[in-house]
Amino acid sequence: MRRLIFGLMVVAGVAACSQSAVAAGDNPGDVEWTRNGGNPDEQRYSTLNQVTAGNVGQLGLAWYADIPERGGYQSTPLVIDGVIYMTAPWSSLYAFDARSGKQLWKFDPQAPREIAATSICCNISNRGAAYADGKIIWGTIDGRLIAVDAKTGKKAWESRVADPKRQYSITGAPRIGDGLVFIGVGGAEFYTRGFLSAFDVKTGKRVWRFYTVPGDPSKGPDGAASDNVMPMAAKTWNGKWWEKGGGGSTWDGIVYDPKTDLVIFGTGNGIPWPAQLRSPGGGDNLFISSIVAVHAKTGKYKWHYQATPMDGFDFDNTAPLTLADIAIGDRTEHVVMQAPKNGVFYVIEAATGKVLSADPYVPKINWALGFDKEHNWKPILNPEANYGKTGKGFYVLPSQAHVWHSQSFNPQTGLMYVPARRGVGSFYAEKGGRILGNQMVDVAMGHPPEGPKPQVENPGAYLLAWDPVERRVAWEQREGSGSAGTLTTAGNLVFQGVPGKKFAAFRADTGEKVWAVDTQGNVVPGPVTYSIDGVQYIAVISSASTGFAAAAGKNRLLVYKLKGAVQLPPAPPPVPQVLNPPPDFGDTAMHARGQDLYQRNCSGCHEGGRMFSGFPDLNYTVALNAPDLFKSIVVDGALAENGMISFKNSLNANDAEAIRSFLTARANQLKRNPPKFGPGGPGGPPPPAAHQ
Ligand code: CA
Repeated sequence: MRRLIFGLMVVAGVAACSQSAVAAGDNPGDVEWTRNGGNPDEQRYSTLNQVTAGNVGQLGLAWYADIPERGGYQSTPLVIDGVIYMTAPWSSLYAFDARSGKQLWKFDPQAPREIAATSICCNISNRGAAYADGKIIWGTIDGRLIAVDAKTGKKAWESRVADPKRQYSITGAPRIGDGLVFIGVGGAEFYTRGFLSAFDVKTGKRVWRFYTVPGDPSKGPDGAASDNVMPMAAKTWNGKWWEKGGGGSTWDGIVYDPKTDLVIFGTGNGIPWPAQLRSPGGGDNLFISSIVAVHAKTGKYKWHYQATPMDGFDFDNTAPLTLADIAIGDRTEHVVMQAPKNGVFYVIEAATGKVLSADPYVPKINWALGFDKEHNWKPILNPEANYGKTGKGFYVLPSQAHVWHSQSFNPQTGLMYVPARRGVGSFYAEKGGRILGNQMVDVAMGHPPEGPKPQVENPGAYLLAWDPVERRVAWEQREGSGSAGTLTTAGNLVFQGVPGKKFAAFRADTGEKVWAVDTQGNVVPGPVTYSIDGVQYIAVISSASTGFAAAAGKNRLLVYKLKGAVQLPPAPPPVPQVLNPPPDFGDTAMHARGQDLYQRNCSGCHEGGRMFSGFPDLNYTVALNAPDLFKSIVVDGALAENGMISFKNSLNANDAEAIRSFLTARANQLKRNPPKFGPGGPGGPPPPAAHQ
């Protein structure tokens, strides 16, 4: 056994104490799920052990509930006082009886649908709510923070966090501490300036805002919270970065640490993506792609660690953050841990920002040549990776190694369970390039870098167990997923949605698969567990949303227990996607014009990662056969309620017809040369990167 034994005893004690402290059910002994990450350290670990690696085969459905909203589901539920709450696409909030599944109420914040096309890089989803002061509090896709009475669903207050007209959005879950609610924003694929804000739980009044990148230095510091730190950050930038905002959005990883009274959060990429274009001549560009800690009460800067200086790879650093007390040598360290897209697993002292270790968790990285341990493990950047400067483009390893999907840490095994991917990304700078649809990222996505593409050892997606003390892979499970959240329990289990529309459990110590069940949908968000009246339940959301197909089928909250006997109704037969384009029409010039217009206006929703949200693959749309219908959708906004707004401000009827000619030619090409295999799947190549 490893050196962890001493730490285990300490940590297990802390975790158990924390769990009982949050037990808030109807009965003494109920253990619920009152914050996004479960216990106060946000480990997504539960002390519940009624369900074990030995009896998990007896898990069956206790109840399920259908959720109508179409789109990507990323929400971790909350369970408080016998009620289970979940957010849904378009930021709707549902409340169900946690024992029976009876819907108690629903709150629809009426987010304007057109922002899907104008202000959002990736998804109309929501990753969850927070609970405090008898209220459920969550962010909306159009930049509001809403609090409702947890019992009745009646609105208590609503505050504006950010302006969607300036292309901010909220998909992440708020966190709670010191009577405040902490909320971040998305939008670093547009010209935004990132920040984290704190609001009063009782009133909804904003208490502080911490900007993650400096503004125009000629306008002075940005408020008391940032007085001293923004000039320091500004020294790491060049040119007029503020004209394009700078980026550094705070779209997912946030944790409030009660032991240090700090809010620790991750920041996203800079904008535009190539460092040379946003900060000509270099500079690290603080605080993009960093972990930042601020004092919870005031928002005053405490420490930062920049994981990827000059980030030009959309690495973000917004992956989930997990606190733990772990034994390193003869010391017990209170640490924050993260495994972001850049492929490095970080263990950092929570109180100070001192890096204890930084190790690649995928086999090979090439954006950094190593770490300068004398300077708090600052990465030594590969000069070839600065593709905006070299003009050659760059194949980067890894690509999107772990994005937002929930990780979990089990104090009993000492392991962190991370959904991971091995792949290679490519970047080529193009000033003014908006190749990712509406996103202003200034890269030519389809332009290959110079030189050979590097090979990836055993590519694909999998479930990774990482040992943060031994600093090594404990096990990898290829039947696991690189795109689904994890939950771990004292029953020696890790739960995760896996490819093939299944929900599975693995032994936490060895990774052995011990259970799987058909869900009829894709299980992507983090599962949760709770105990009421002595019965342990496991809850997770499954979604009809898939890649490369319009969303058909049900979205559901699924709740399991031992010997649960409820059956899902038979799944409707899949609706086959039939390639049925009309004959090609138009000449080469028309196709080229249509392709350019499509690339600029449509691809952001209908290509790559956005299709995982259920935006249709236009190769298959029946509208290709109906010019009037196609024009009425594109120009007149016939499907505006679905988020497909009218493009009349940028496209006329002739433009729509040019796009239809390109799509028709492409669909006929696909019909003549069908792909041999689809993307993703167990052991297969990873699906196209979903840039967040
Ligand atoms: Ca990003």
